[in-house]
Amino acid sequence: MAETIEAPAVTRIPHWIAGRRLDGSSGRNGPVFNPASGRQTGAVDFATAEEVDAAVQAAKDAFPAWRATSLAKRAELFFRIRELVHERRDEVAEILVREHGKVFSDALGEVTRGLEVIEFCCGIPTLLKSEYSEQASTGIDVYSIRQPLGVVAGITPFNFPAMVPMWMWAPAIACGNTLVLKPSEKDPSASLWTAELLKEAGLPDGVFNVVMGDKVAVDAVLEHPDIAAVSFVGSTPIARYVYETATARGKRCQALGGAKNHMIVLPDADVEMAADAAVSAGYGSAGERCMAVSMVVAVGGVADELRAAIEERIPKVRVGDGMDPSSEMGPLVTKEHRDKVASYIENAPGEGATVVVDGREDVPSEGFFLNPTLLDDVTPAMKAYADEIFGPVLGITRVATYDEAVRLVNESPYGNGTAIFTRDGGVARQFQLDVQAGMVGINVPIPVPVAYYSFGGWKASLFGDRHVYGPEGIDFYTRGKVVTSRWPDPATSKVDLGFPQTR
Ligand code: NAD
Repeated sequence: MAETIEAPAVTRIPHWIAGRRLDGSSGRNGPVFNPASGRQTGAVDFATAEEVDAAVQAAKDAFPAWRATSLAKRAELFFRIRELVHERRDEVAEILVREHGKVFSDALGEVTRGLEVIEFCCGIPTLLKSEYSEQASTGIDVYSIRQPLGVVAGITPFNFPAMVPMWMWAPAIACGNTLVLKPSEKDPSASLWTAELLKEAGLPDGVFNVVMGDKVAVDAVLEHPDIAAVSFVGSTPIARYVYETATARGKRCQALGGAKNHMIVLPDADVEMAADAAVSAGYGSAGERCMAVSMVVAVGGVADELRAAIEERIPKVRVGDGMDPSSEMGPLVTKEHRDKVASYIENAPGEGATVVVDGREDVPSEGFFLNPTLLDDVTPAMKAYADEIFGPVLGITRVATYDEAVRLVNESPYGNGTAIFTRDGGVARQFQLDVQAGMVGINVPIPVPVAYYSFGGWKASLFGDRHVYGPEGIDFYTRGKVVTSRWPDPATSKVDLGFPQTR
């Protein structure tokens, strides 16, 4: 009897509005792949403007009761959310591996870093404490309060499908806002998992909504008159567009963009440690991190030794399916992205760079894999230097002095993360003073701030003036009000047309 081979099932991935899944009505959708096999596993609905409006309406309806919910209850809920995410982190990590491609241990790391933001939000009663001045004038007290904005929106990239949404929904909701999230259409299922978990934890329906989709959904968010603020994380051109469109419509906006992160290695650095760091930060998550190291700037005589140490480590990086516990690096997110990253390797020799290790060799036949690649003699005039490649391609650029190295970083249009490797504390401190970037590592290659600081770059890596999560996140999702109050004896009241004086 002939064996029938069943086609792998393609799961429909719908929206989440007012506490339940809702199939889209546009008839438009996008494919979701398992990048390790290259097979389509899902079809994500693309929202219409009407569906975005329904999500905003649900959020608007939920806002009055949610903002009135006591700080104690909000904190209690966040402790419950924390416990649930912690207990079920393997579940969401597997979703991340199957749609994004990163390896399981890295996916768990993503969830854990996001969890830290949730833990920070458990302290919301303390975070929203304000200031009070008794007797600012005779019989007059003045105090400030911070209040939620209303309905806010989050638009997120493919590379951290659980953590980056957590940067937004956790502080936004803790502050008393209600939210509409538009996750990346490439790996959207983690957002539905989150929606179900938040409901199970007891979050009222309508406080957290998810609209799936593409530019149509993003534009509907940006145009919607009832959305007060937009948080965006993604590439620089879209970040600029989102910032300009949202702010032109009177919305508060923080839009985090792309990056090209330099790691400077000084001649006195421990070369083995610097090589470990460059390989870890360059190839972790297949280079699909906005804080990945993409350029190693070798200063003075360190270059040859450093290149040899990196080259020696590359064959030992185990590339494979992220669900295989022995894999250290998975595939790229889509075939298009893989091919685009590979084109930089193809074009590098023509630009004058040296391909030391070519990651296009010996890749698995299935899936969107590319092996770690090392380029040397990369200079700022090359596309391999200027563009954010967002893949496992590490470049070495050689400079003579510390000043030249810092100039390179400061001339970059981006200013997300940067790192210096040295044994000299004085130079490291000078670097911290000189460098134009929002997040700086001293012998730390990926300096993602802990949850009680805020995350964000400078220049074309962030449009807006508030970084995400931490104290600036609380600031972003609230607005200030100052109250001046007095309780005088009515018998002392009189008409006085002068400007109120305090003395
Ligand atoms: P992307 O800009 O392509 O997409 C981000 C979001 O914008 C997605 O939700 C997508 O649907 C939407 N979008 C895409 N094209 C659009 C358009 N023309 N109009 C309106 N909306 C559109 O980014 P990506 O490829 O998903 O993510 C990778 C990028 O994100 C990299 O550049 C990376 O550096 C950046 N990133 C930055 C940070 C940071 O903190 N600065 C963090 C993570 C990722």
